[in-house]
Amino acid sequence: MKQTVNRLCTACEGAGVLRIMSGVYICKDCIADISAEIDRLRAEEKPANVLQIAKKQLRDTQNATAYLLRDVPEKTLHSLKQRALDEGTNVRAIMLQAIEAYLN
Ligand SMILES: [Zn+2]
Repeated sequence: MKQTVNRLCTACEGAGVLRIMSGVYICKDCIADISAEIDRLRAEEKPANVLQIAKKQLRDTQNATAYLLRDVPEKTLHSLKQRALDEGTNVRAIMLQAIEAYLN
């Protein structure tokens, strides 16, 4: 991944330090989210297109029902993704379950 500073992040339209992933400008804050989605899609043996993922993330974060969680500790996120894979579920389902448990 190369570094550049002349564009906006495709996933959040932020102007932070950008990197290029498969030809798409992504800021360092979004890289983990984009990478997690790529991993999720690949785990499901689905195609992972960085541009489509980034544009979907932008749409989702502009939608009031979406929430982007930044700066999750790497070890925590890795353990979460691994356990989700082991249990045949996904991070979204686990997060929703945890939120529901907290609310009830
Ligand atoms: Zn971004």
